[in-house]
Amino acid sequence: MTTETHTTEQAGAQQLDETAEILIIGAGFAGLGMGAQLRRAGREDFLIIERAGEVGGTWRDNTYPGAACDVPSHLYSFSFAMNPDWSGFYTPGPEIQNYLLNVTEQEGLRPHLRLNANMDEAKWDEQAERWIVRTSRGTYTGRYLITGTGHLADPSLPDIPGLADFEGDIFHSARWNHDVDLTGKRVAVVGTGASAIQVVPEMAEIASELTVFQRTPAWVIPRIVKPYSAATRRKFARDAESMQRERDDIFWFAESAYAQRRAVPAALAEVTANALGNLERAVPDPELRAKLTPSYMPGCKRVLSSNAYYPTFNRENVTLEASALTRVEGTTAYGADGVGYEVDAIVLCTGFEAAQPPFAEAIFDGEGVSLANHWSTGMSAFDSTAVSGFPNLFAINGPNTSLGHNSIVYIIESQVQYILEALDRADAEGLRTLVPARPAEEEYVAKIQERAATSVWLMDGGCNSWYVDPRSGNLTLIWPDYAYDFRARNGHFTGAGFLSRGADGTVRPLTEQQPKAEATLI
Ligand SMILES: Cc1cc2nc3c(=O)[nH]c(=O)nc-3n(C[C@H](O)[C@H](O)[C@H](O)COP(=O)(O)OP(=O)(O)OC[C@H]3O[C@@H](n4cnc5c(N)ncnc54)[C@H](O)[C@@H]3O)c2cc1C
Repeated sequence: MTTETHTTEQAGAQQLDETAEILIIGAGFAGLGMGAQLRRAGREDFLIIERAGEVGGTWRDNTYPGAACDVPSHLYSFSFAMNPDWSGFYTPGPEIQNYLLNVTEQEGLRPHLRLNANMDEAKWDEQAERWIVRTSRGTYTGRYLITGTGHLADPSLPDIPGLADFEGDIFHSARWNHDVDLTGKRVAVVGTGASAIQVVPEMAEIASELTVFQRTPAWVIPRIVKPYSAATRRKFARDAESMQRERDDIFWFAESAYAQRRAVPAALAEVTANALGNLERAVPDPELRAKLTPSYMPGCKRVLSSNAYYPTFNRENVTLEASALTRVEGTTAYGADGVGYEVDAIVLCTGFEAAQPPFAEAIFDGEGVSLANHWSTGMSAFDSTAVSGFPNLFAINGPNTSLGHNSIVYIIESQVQYILEALDRADAEGLRTLVPARPAEEEYVAKIQERAATSVWLMDGGCNSWYVDPRSGNLTLIWPDYAYDFRARNGHFTGAGFLSRGADGTVRPLTEQQPKAEATLI
């Protein structure tokens, strides 16, 4: 890494301009996982550029009461940094954030971090064959750009008349305002997705009145409660194989749920019965139950797990408004059915800019075309990782990588291995650039859409979910298959489908090579 110091004219603040072989954007699971494996492969010439003041991504930003993961801890963690100390089967958010802080130290990533550096613009310089990344902290130049900017990093704020002029406290769940004490207040929670079902029971405990605005009910199954005793944690620490077995069991159990996403009737019936049973046991009032019962196939939106969510609606201080928030006047929040509620605070659990991620607006190819423009009908990438027209760019946890049934960390690690192999190949053959051919990308994407057509996300009877791009109707967020299938298909870089510019400057199709090593399965 080379560093040059200069002073900006506007701010008078000291800025650092640096050059590194590899620039990673984002310090969540994706960016940290990539950085850790680069170091383990003996590559030190990289920077991790992060807009916030600390690592962690999702788990740094989502500090709302009740924040927790719905993928079991021993799988929602890196295979190379397993943690015997998880407190239970599922982990609260702060524990995961703590884990990521530990991984950062253990893997020696601190010196590579450039915090408080928002990527404002990343441009491919065709002449220099370098990425020039302009940030709020300085300009970084690199041969490779790897995005780890997340799907759920930028809160989506609804455009509701009067909301901006609301006279009380208002914030998004991912930007919780801890200065506001909601105890004894009249609180509205807007939305009933993954964050809301964790926030709602917590708010019900402290608010004098809680109104939940529900546009679409969620399918909610019971949550497994299984704390790990001190003895079990000691066993995991002493006997790594026992911890690996726990991880393997969780993985295959999760994989078995994929049948639901393929709408296999028996599997759908099972999850439906499980969720309806959860609802029936918790809510005796049939009218309330009807309002909480979804009309779309389970899995089309994320199937959620909670033992606390449904019972909350039996409380005297909780009202379910079974319609969307449509307007705010002064301190009155109105549902689509015209009913108004006096509130002191509004908590927006309204999701994230997932289908059209803001980071894509900041990335430009050699001709000045933005990635957002390239993705004007929906995100797409070859092997879910590289994008035609954008040389030496790799996206981790980008298009068609999310899972509804298993751990994203598994997908992230598969992509990290793919990228490492691509870098090795380029080094071994003296390749200056790597970029997928457009027909290869189109064919890959067409196959994904074909597969998705018979999944719960796109079948009739589905729902409006953020996994689907509203402009094309394509499934752009989710990988519509088993997680192990992702790794089998995309866990190695073979060169197939890629164009490369060699040392002599000629662009040629890359020859396909068999992977040198088998990827570990889990
Ligand atoms: C509330 C919540 C709960 C979740 N629960 C689960 C769960 O239970 N199970 C599950 O599998 N997944 C869950 N997820 C999804 C979660 O995002 C992923 O599991 C995982 O954390 C993604 O890691 P990542 O590194 O890809 O992205 P993130 O963790 O989102 O990290 C992206 C990083 O990139 C940075 N960044 C973005 N844009 C820029 C820019 N322009 N310049 C510089 N830095 C930038 C961000 O600040 C952030 O630090 C949840 C997400 C949310 C929001």
